[in-house]
Amino acid sequence: MDEKEKEFKRKVLGVVDTEKEMQLMQGPFRPGSAILTTPFSEPDVIKSFCTRCGDYGLITARGVALLEMLLEMYGREDEILENIDGYFIELEICPVCNPENEKMLFRFRKISEVED
Ligand SMILES: [Zn+2]
Repeated sequence: MDEKEKEFKRKVLGVVDTEKEMQLMQGPFRPGSAILTTPFSEPDVIKSFCTRCGDYGLITARGVALLEMLLEMYGREDEILENIDGYFIELEICPVCNPENEKMLFRFRKISEVED
């Protein structure tokens, strides 16, 4: 797995690897009031679900952008959605059940396709 992919994975799914994380950080960072005062609106957030361990998560708009970049890296640009509303991200393996997985296996799925 190349470094770029590892970095994306860490940013997107928050894999904790403190030493590497510190190397990536170019801080100290300061909060921006424009961001802090912007409401956390529903379309900015997409839920994720790991089919292997059953863990649910939330991915921010920024995380989604990173996932889209990953799709481009994988040559799966056609899976990039214009509007993520009504979708979630289904993971086959996630950092909770397997932090060392070689590749991020995920896809956007329509929530309406999910059976109760
Ligand atoms: Zn999992």
